[in-house]
Amino acid sequence: MINIGKNIEEYLPPEILTLVKAAGEIAVSRGQSVYLVGGVVRDLFLKRRNLDLDLVVEGDALPLARQLAKGRDGKLVTHPRFGTATFKYGAYSIDLVTARSETYPEPGALPTVKPGSIQDDLLRRDFSINAMAVSIDPARFGDLVDPYGGKSDLDRHLIRVLHQRSFKDDPTRVWRALRYEQRLGFRLEFDTTTQLRRDAPIMERISGDRLRHELERILEEDYPEKVFYRGERLGVLRNLHLALMGNGWLGEHFDMAREACGSPKPNKNLYLALLVWRIEDEALKNFVERLKFGGDAVRVLRDIPLLKQAIPALAASELTPSGVYHILEHHRPETILAGALVTDSALVRQRLELYLSSLRFVELSLNGDNLRRMGVPAGKKMGAMLKALKEAKLDGKVITREDERKLVRSWLKKGKR
Ligand code: ATP
Repeated sequence: MINIGKNIEEYLPPEILTLVKAAGEIAVSRGQSVYLVGGVVRDLFLKRRNLDLDLVVEGDALPLARQLAKGRDGKLVTHPRFGTATFKYGAYSIDLVTARSETYPEPGALPTVKPGSIQDDLLRRDFSINAMAVSIDPARFGDLVDPYGGKSDLDRHLIRVLHQRSFKDDPTRVWRALRYEQRLGFRLEFDTTTQLRRDAPIMERISGDRLRHELERILEEDYPEKVFYRGERLGVLRNLHLALMGNGWLGEHFDMAREACGSPKPNKNLYLALLVWRIEDEALKNFVERLKFGGDAVRVLRDIPLLKQAIPALAASELTPSGVYHILEHHRPETILAGALVTDSALVRQRLELYLSSLRFVELSLNGDNLRRMGVPAGKKMGAMLKALKEAKLDGKVITREDERKLVRSWLKKGKR
């Protein structure tokens, strides 16, 4: 039996280590066993930071979670229906779940779940490197449970499924496999590659919500393009959506996105806009429906064809800033930035950037009330004047509040507008 108690003590910060040890003590006092499982064990060996700890309890996890949280300065959220709890403690998020076994009634369907042992719980997992557990019971603290050779696969940099049916049971594992492979710089093990290719078409049966969730998790990676590119080379990107492309263009533009945002993690919707930029309008519509996008993402995705239509007008040689503003005012900033990264025209790019960096923030100092007090009657005339005033400001003809007042006065004097 390998014991990695020392590694845990070095890996976890003192207050989290204390918490973990307390979980072990509570479990024993309740006649249960508890383990650190999954990603945190993998990352502990790899010396990678991981702020999400998964604790698996042989027995009911909820009373243990409640006892653990009691008197501690954190936030406990319980899900009695699922017998799970999450304890937010400082920067850490600790999930406590009851060990369970899962069986899949049919490929791609959700599993049937029942309580089980730690061995059962490891068997339901995706890859050997994620299927290790470490006991945190006081008498066995640090004992490694590794029935599928996870440590050896970690050492050999391999992503390996636990059994032949793995991708059939849950085709979202195709994307999980590629994410880990690319994130960690590992390789898919030979049989795993064959099975992944064979079973990827079953992704068709997965609900849009589950598929979108996988896509969103890819977009949270440091280099999402690597996952798409690998998916394309393996011939499985088409199973996420037929029209997607993951070649070098994508990498180049994701790089530009990171640079433009000055951040290693640009807005997810900007990545999304670039991912689908080259897709035809009809296919894009189908993509949005299939993956059931909602909220801001759907607004950005639906804006893409509209912005593409608007862009040629931005190439006109004579175009004032207010003209640029009117072309872009109803479009989404993420779509506009994607357009700026994609366009071949320096002039168009410059105008898109002008809108993003300044025009969209231009506000008048005067409002309707101010104009009314200056003698402008409410109604159509007021609306037209506010619009003209905003255009003057966008075009740099007025700058200060006093400039605005002067311009309004001059219009009133002339009886214009
Ligand atoms: P990440 O660093 O990406 O969060 P993680 O390993 O913590 O990695 P989670 O998605 O949080 O990943 O899942 C936690 C654990 O649950 C995994 O390590 C794995 O053992 C298991 N798991 C998650 N999703 C699946 C799945 N679809 N099939 C089988 N096991 C899974």
